[in-house]
Amino acid sequence: MTTQLVASDLDRTLIYSAAALGLTMPDAEAPRLLCVEVYQGKPLSYVTENAAALLDELGRSRAVFVPTTTRTREQYGRIHLPGPPPKFAICANGGHLLVDGVSDPDWQARVARRLADECATLDEVRAHLVRTADPAWLLKERVAEDLFAYLVVERSLLPDAWVKELGEWARERGWTVSLQGRKLYVVPRPLTKSAAVREVARRVDAEEILTAGDSLLDTDLLLAADRSWRPGHGELADTGFVAPGLTVLEERGIAAGEEILRAFLGAGERG
Ligand SMILES: [Mg+2]
Repeated sequence: MTTQLVASDLDRTLIYSAAALGLTMPDAEAPRLLCVEVYQGKPLSYVTENAAALLDELGRSRAVFVPTTTRTREQYGRIHLPGPPPKFAICANGGHLLVDGVSDPDWQARVARRLADECATLDEVRAHLVRTADPAWLLKERVAEDLFAYLVVERSLLPDAWVKELGEWARERGWTVSLQGRKLYVVPRPLTKSAAVREVARRVDAEEILTAGDSLLDTDLLLAADRSWRPGHGELADTGFVAPGLTVLEERGIAAGEEILRAFLGAGERG
């Protein structure tokens, strides 16, 4: 029996905020939703009821399901997916590998060494962000897990040219930029989801890796897989990203989340 590893991005891949639902049918025909995240006492993220059942099925299948997110551990801790708690989870874009909910110290040390060797410091990047961002559209400046930075922006006022210039500045320093909804992430290039997924694959002796994701920060995750899926929305859809083994779904919004889970389970039956 082959061991399958299923590593999926969460936000706008499996779980969706109200703003990202993308429901197009008449309200009377909309699917029933399950809230999987509460923030400051209010519902924040959802899956469809069908997706909830599929997640439960995936969690109980032979596949090793690994939630793989750019979220900090604290932000991830707010999410309560249906199904048994996953043995492994990847947070902070690969910076933390959780094993039974605890960050693996050896993995942390390996990540820290790579970042020190290969890219500019977080302090330098933050200083640049603070210096060049315009208070007209900058709502918040945040550091995640002392590993990377992100800005919360007023998207309608954010100049494309600024994002492009930042992307070039960052690239020269070994960092990468990803714009997802109201959040602009600036992340060290060696800090990847795929590196952490490969480590989990090694530990569980996985023979096949299945992945899904919607944003630029998922590019390496999709490329590291034997088979992968991306929704019809998001940064990767906007650039028309394709890759060997990648299935591009037509579905957009929360319907895509359901379809991705169906694909994972279908691949498991064949695998
Ligand atoms: Mg995402």
